Amino acid sequence: MSYPGGVNALTGVNLDIARGELVAVVGPSGSGKSTLLNIIGTLDRPTTGTVLINGRDVATLSDRRLSALRAHEIGFVFQQFHLSDGLTATENVATGLLYAGVPRRHRRPRALESLARVGLSHRAGHRPQELSGGERQRVAIARALVNRPSLILADEPTGALDTANGQAVLALLRRLNEEGSTIALITHDRDIAASLPRRIEIRDGRLVR
Ligand code: ADP
Repeated sequence: MSYPGGVNALTGVNLDIARGELVAVVGPSGSGKSTLLNIIGTLDRPTTGTVLINGRDVATLSDRRLSALRAHEIGFVFQQFHLSDGLTATENVATGLLYAGVPRRHRRPRALESLARVGLSHRAGHRPQELSGGERQRVAIARALVNRPSLILADEPTGALDTANGQAVLALLRRLNEEGSTIALITHDRDIAASLPRRIEIRDGRLVR
């Protein structure tokens, strides 16, 4: 993967993530972790090479089909949560359903069901500023889950949290994995990485382990 300006952010990467895996992506800052996650998530197209999601080559899809695949198959979680301040937890989770074409009347029940999965039913009517950092990230995870995606991609999901909240978010991701979700997460945290079943290590855009 080359960015304009000639940065080779990823080179020679050959990676399979199987259904049901929980994978940590680790490496120093600037090593290509976010680029890798963005390519897996079809947010970026690689300069060369192929990305298969559920066996389908994403390069063969039109933009419309690619957006649909992303909406249905992939849930994203970010370090800074990316929740809307003006919306309640339920409404924030329901925004995950907009692009998947779920009819309005189904959105609220689906959002509430997803909040229940992350243990936040009692905060459904709260806005982000009325929630702790850990709770905000759990709302963001509920949003990522709401379309029942094949894959959850999380870019430093514990990076903005204190240790206790980070541990709680990690425990939640582990439980979701045990319940069947496939998850790839970027982490700087050595303890978190060491505790996960598979680690992918990147240096200077190459997989080293
Ligand atoms: P990490 O997530 O490991 O910190 P990134 O994937 O963000 O690394 O970046 C990998 C390399 O690509 C870095 O050298 C970075 O400066 C460069 N890079 C990332 N995004 C862009 C971009 N949009 N345009 C140009 N270069 C970029």
